[in-house]
Order: sequence, then structure tokens, then C-alpha cells
Amino acid sequence: MARIVVAGAGAIGASVAYHLALRGARDVVLADRGEIASGSTGKAMGGVRQQFSTEPEVRLARDSIRFFEELGARWFQQVGYVFLATTDEGLAELEERMELQRGLGVPVERVDVPAGVRGEDVAGAVACRSDGVASPPAVTHELVRRAAELGVEVRERTRAEELERDVLVVACGPWSAEAAAGQGVELPIRPLCRQLLETAPLPDLPADLPMVIELETTFHFRRRDDRLRIAMVDAAPRWGFDEVVDESVFDDRLRRLAHRYPAAAGTTIPDAHPIVGRVADGVYAACGFSGHGFMQSPAVGRALAELILEGKTGYDLSPFALERFERGAVSPEEVVL
Ligand SMILES: Cc1cc2nc3c(=O)[nH]c(=O)nc-3n(C[C@H](O)[C@H](O)[C@H](O)COP(=O)(O)OP(=O)(O)OC[C@H]3O[C@@H](n4cnc5c(N)ncnc54)[C@H](O)[C@@H]3O)c2cc1C
Repeated sequence: MARIVVAGAGAIGASVAYHLALRGARDVVLADRGEIASGSTGKAMGGVRQQFSTEPEVRLARDSIRFFEELGARWFQQVGYVFLATTDEGLAELEERMELQRGLGVPVERVDVPAGVRGEDVAGAVACRSDGVASPPAVTHELVRRAAELGVEVRERTRAEELERDVLVVACGPWSAEAAAGQGVELPIRPLCRQLLETAPLPDLPADLPMVIELETTFHFRRRDDRLRIAMVDAAPRWGFDEVVDESVFDDRLRRLAHRYPAAAGTTIPDAHPIVGRVADGVYAACGFSGHGFMQSPAVGRALAELILEGKTGYDLSPFALERFERGAVSPEEVVL
């Protein structure tokens, strides 16, 4: 039987390998040059929706939901997706899509704005209750586990091109053009950097808060544990592999969040500074140094040693205290690379 090598153990490669094994393929290797879910899959928002605007996409998404449902509530939280339109044109677009989606069996409906979400400026909303959210890396690890159980050989830190095979599946996400070029195939795929922001902990976020999306602006947010994860399409697309955090959008995104979800007004985006000091009885932390941990490590080591052994240090560690997130303190330090 042919040996099939699947290149890339992200959400896509893991699913291809799993389904190959389910359908009886006996010689399948799932190879990742890094680790499982170490590409885009490990960084995604985790939204799972069926509300697309063309039939082929709706079908793929609809059947994927069935699969997520079978995985169960541990993997997939069916909190729904609510699209908000703030203009009549936007609402007409949502209603047109809704007709298509409903025609394909997707239960999309007109709804009121969900509790806690500001609705004064909303012309109308549609929701699909069977949409939801998941952890892409967790689901991917589970699929890889199931694939391995069915006999798939999983190889991390392995470039797929190096393996003997009869068939190669290129599922390398943004690196796919590079992987295919080595096979003499040109794939017109290029990386696009997208950014998620996560708020400080917010008390009392409802467990059933749906994914909320503003149609016209693309601003959207979901609950993840006790925080909100927020995102929006960048005004100017950031093509390339550069993953530098763009802090210039923080204020705008927090303002949008406070407007749309007033209970989150005043929240912050945890800063890019470390946590240093006592964090619980008998527990100390020195972590989260962004791009400056090495250069500060000598003094940090000394400060923490003094604190642990002598109960005090000459360094001012207050800007690095864990409690600063509860206070909503914003660090004035700007030179963080
Ligand atoms: C900020 C953000 C938010 C997102 N939100 C959502 C969302 O809400 N819902 C959603 O559905 N999608 C979302 N996405 C998109 C989603 O993350 C991707 O579409 C999906 O993860 C793609 O999976 P993949 O397996 O194709 O690629 P990846 O996860 O990038 O996996 C590719 C893998 O290939 C490996 N690789 C590369 N070259 C080789 C080689 N030569 N040999 C072997 N392995 C190789 C890499 O190491 C990597 O692990 C989001 C993405 C981002 C960045």
C-alpha cells in the first residue's frame, strides 16, 4: 500500500491524517518540522461557525460542526455566534446570507442583541446557536492522539520532504508555498499576520456568552475562561511572517470593547512586562520577560534571592507584582521589543 506523508501537524494536517487512517490507510506518517499545533493553529481565536456566504463554504462548515459535536462539550462549547449589523445595508446582507444558510439546513435566525451587549446602535442581529468555540491546539492534539491510535506514525521536528513516500500532502499552513516549491509545484499562498488580544480577568463573564461579531467593522470577541479574547481585521493587512505585537491598536480595541460590552469597560490588555516576586505562600515567580529577560537576569536573580532569603530587596519590584493586573495598573515603560 502507498506510503502517505502528511506535511504539517496543524488542524488541517492532523485532520487529514486522522481521516486517512479512519478510511483504512495503513501507512501514514504525520510529520511536522516543529511540534503539533505549533503554527497558526496554536494562535487562533477558536471560533467555529457555519455562517458563510457561499454554498461550498457553508457545507464544509456545517459538516465540520457535526464532527465537533461528536467530539463533545469537552472540546467544543456550543455558545453560538451572533452577527450584529449596525446599518440597514448590513442587516440586508445578513438576511440574504441567512436565507442561503437556512436553505442548507443551518439553523440561523433573527435574534435580539444578547444580554450585556450594547444594542442601541444595532439595526439587527442574526445568530446560529449551533456555532461555537473551541481550543484549536487542544482539538488538534486530540485528533493526533486518535490518528496515532489508528496507526498513524507521528514525527515531530521532522521536515516532511526528508521522508520516503509515494504521496505527499502539503498542509503546512503559511509555509505551504515553500514546501510545495521543493516538489516543483507553485502554490500562491503567503502568510498574513493577525493579532488577538486578551483582556485582564473579568469577574462574572457569563459561561454562555456567544462569539459576538460586528459585521461592518469585523470587531469580535469571545469568552476564554475569565477573560475576553478580542480581534479585528487590521486596517492594512500585515503580509509576512513578522509577528511583532502591534500595540498601536490596543486603545482602539479596548474602546470598541467598552462600547459593545459595557461590563468590560476599564479592562486592560496585560502588559509585556514580567511578574517578579511572591505570588502565593511559599511561591515566587520570575517570568514573562518578553524580549528583555536575558539582559535583566543577573539583577532579577539577585532581587529574588534577597526576597526569598531575607524577606526584602533593594530593587523596586512593585511594577512587576502579580497584583498589578487586578489594580489595572499600566506600566509606563515603552522600550519593550
Ligand atoms: C490570530 C488568528 C485567529 C484565528 N482565528 C480563527 C478562528 O477563530 N477560527 C478558525 O477556524 N481559524 C482561525 N484562524 C485560522 C486558523 O488558525 C488557521 O486557518 C488554521 O490553524 C490552519 O491550520 P493549518 O494546519 O493549515 O496550518 P498551521 O497550524 O500553521 O500548521 C502548519 C504546520 O506545518 C508545519 N510545517 C511547515 N513546513 C513544514 C515542512 N516542510 N514539513 C513538515 N511540517 C512543516 C508547521 O510547523 C506547522 O505546525 C486564526 C488564525 C490566527 C493567526
